Amino acid sequence: NAGKLGQKLGYAVYVVGGFVRDVLLKHPNTDVDLVVEGDGIAFAAAMTREMGGRYKAHPKFKTAVVVLPSGQRVDVATARLEYYEYPAALPTVELSSIKMDLYRRDFTVNALAVHLSPDRYGELVDFFGAQRDIKDRVLRVLHSLSFVEDPTRIVRAIRFSERFGFRIGGQTDRLIKNAVRHSFFHRLSGSRVFHELQLILEEKTPLACLRRMHDYKLLAAIHPLLALTPPRETVLMEVENVINWYRLLYIEPQPQAWLVYFLALCSGMDAEQFAVVGKRLNFSKRTAGDIATLRMRIRETAQGLFNWEYHKGPLSELYFLMEPLPVEGALFLMARNPREPLQKYVSLYLTTLRGKRLEITGNDLKGIGIAPGPDYTSILRRVRGSVIDGHAPCRAEQ
Ligand code: ATP
Repeated sequence: NAGKLGQKLGYAVYVVGGFVRDVLLKHPNTDVDLVVEGDGIAFAAAMTREMGGRYKAHPKFKTAVVVLPSGQRVDVATARLEYYEYPAALPTVELSSIKMDLYRRDFTVNALAVHLSPDRYGELVDFFGAQRDIKDRVLRVLHSLSFVEDPTRIVRAIRFSERFGFRIGGQTDRLIKNAVRHSFFHRLSGSRVFHELQLILEEKTPLACLRRMHDYKLLAAIHPLLALTPPRETVLMEVENVINWYRLLYIEPQPQAWLVYFLALCSGMDAEQFAVVGKRLNFSKRTAGDIATLRMRIRETAQGLFNWEYHKGPLSELYFLMEPLPVEGALFLMARNPREPLQKYVSLYLTTLRGKRLEITGNDLKGIGIAPGPDYTSILRRVRGSVIDGHAPCRAEQ
């Protein structure tokens, strides 16, 4: 469809990048990236006219995001020769625009394209030996200046290599070490580092990725306070267990796993040190504040739980202690205290207590003649406490 539409407009259209890689690797991937040799924004507009949905253009980058009626997202980019100013080493005049577009990418396996134009539909475009690299299970950059151009690619190399079980090619490995030795990371903006770190922490095996980052001395290169110390590694290992346990329970909403891992990566830091790391990662005031508050609340909740256990408080008290803490904080608490009874109590809260919903609402109170007001909260709280302590039935038990 996209190819035919391109033909009408006189453009060649390709599907590129991760989608093609994942088709060859038989990995699921629903993110579609198109490159248009022509005007990407005009193409996106035509696409929504023909297929419905909507699009948002970014004229500065000549890109657009299309959302089709099915909810499918399609990123559209423009490949134009005059658009790229490339190092003198490159004989630009001889390159087609799709080749230039692919040459800008990070690894050979991500620099594949498939023709969508009707006359060449389905033809694979592989300028850099990506098929061979996929067969050999190796991750390679396209040229030796790749990490100078963009040091975040080092983190991406680790992420893809762990995800697909690919080794990092010999030359690419040397280029990474060289980039770390020359502190390329220091001039990288905090937001970009943080974004890539977040992607690592969203992977299935973040700890393995963090260990590889540590081996390349990358974590310390981002900031010495982020070094992977043995106690942190232990917490991270427990986070992995707890997250896997929680995912198996299928409780919605799923937690932001990256945040739990990030809390573990920052474990052992005091508030001041955490602020320094936040600054390095260019946290917005809001993100910095949110995570700092969460760290504080986790500490207070842990203290509360120890007290509660000591004086053998009722279950309702456990409920009210845990209720204000986001699920990410609860999971971190479990990982931080793996062999303590505390872990058992937090899991009891997450799996059972939290799901107890009240049958009555403020409307019922109004119905029996209690005037609306601040009393409602306190009455409902007392009823909830009583339900949890087993004095009244609740929905979860019916
Ligand atoms: P994922 O499966 O994690 O989404 P992806 O390959 O789709 O992986 P994206 O980050 O969505 O990765 O990027 C899409 C494509 O853009 C990549 O396949 C790659 O070709 C290119 N790309 C992304 N980031 C960079 C970068 N820092 N340098 C060069 N090319 C990049």
